Amino acid sequence: MKQRPSFPAQLERAGDRPVPAVKAVTKVQALDLAPAAASKLGRPAPVVGARAPARTVVPARTPAHGDFAAVRTNMVAKIAAQGVVDATVLAAMSQVERHRFVDSALHAQAYEDTSLPIGLGQTISKPGVVARMLELLRKQRPGLLGRVLEIGTGCGYQAAVLSLLASEVYSMERLRGLHDRARENLRPLRLANLHLLFGDGMAGFAKGAPYAGIIAAAGGEAVPQAWTDQLAVGGRLVAPVAMAVGAHTQQVLVVIDKTARGLRQSVHEAVHFVPLKSGLA
Ligand code: SAH
Repeated sequence: MKQRPSFPAQLERAGDRPVPAVKAVTKVQALDLAPAAASKLGRPAPVVGARAPARTVVPARTPAHGDFAAVRTNMVAKIAAQGVVDATVLAAMSQVERHRFVDSALHAQAYEDTSLPIGLGQTISKPGVVARMLELLRKQRPGLLGRVLEIGTGCGYQAAVLSLLASEVYSMERLRGLHDRARENLRPLRLANLHLLFGDGMAGFAKGAPYAGIIAAAGGEAVPQAWTDQLAVGGRLVAPVAMAVGAHTQQVLVVIDKTARGLRQSVHEAVHFVPLKSGLA
């Protein structure tokens, strides 16, 4: 048997090796971007496709011997079946161990497509929505994104996925308790290009600007101007924003592209994110 390498280990980023072309994204086999990185994490590479007839479907509540690789592969296959087609995003999602970002009592649910509590009234986002937003952010382009700003670190899960897709990630959190927890959760992963910031993300982070991408994990009434100011020309912002739909207000995903001629906005599906709040706590 192969010697298990020790943890911590480093994940592999999207630009570090060529991303395989994907034809049928619902095939689990198509999602196996970096088995080498997976085995570096102290577990076997995901067993996929034709090579794994018996292990590809495992009930989410019974991970074999505490090894979550198979349930994670299932989670990613479900996300692909929902319509996420960006193979680089799917591969990144299959690399990051979501259960490490939630309380051990929630480990069995960590690979279900649901948000889960992470303390202080906040939640880890639904993985399907994380994938969808990252796909929108990447505009399905090949290669690494440049510098990205994330507002709402929470437990740090999305920040970890982002760090595999971008050259540099700045992630801001306004709640000290969660900022500290994210640091703990992320420390073993040693993601050198991920910078956690304790601060009010409403103001963005001017020192890191301009950003190729800005992504918010909390929803406000509008997109703060600081964010569009800090976006590079050619950059894209993805955020949940409250919008009036008839007599109701509904949170929807908004995409803003900054072009040489100004901002271009498109409105996408309804979502349910925690509120964007100002100030620190
Ligand atoms: N990115 C997380 C989701 C965290 S939930 C994931 O991987 O699942 C959203 C987070 O946004 C909460 O932790 C909340 O405290 C934070 N938040 C809300 N308003 C903020 C602001 N103005 N600046 C920074 N973080 C904010």
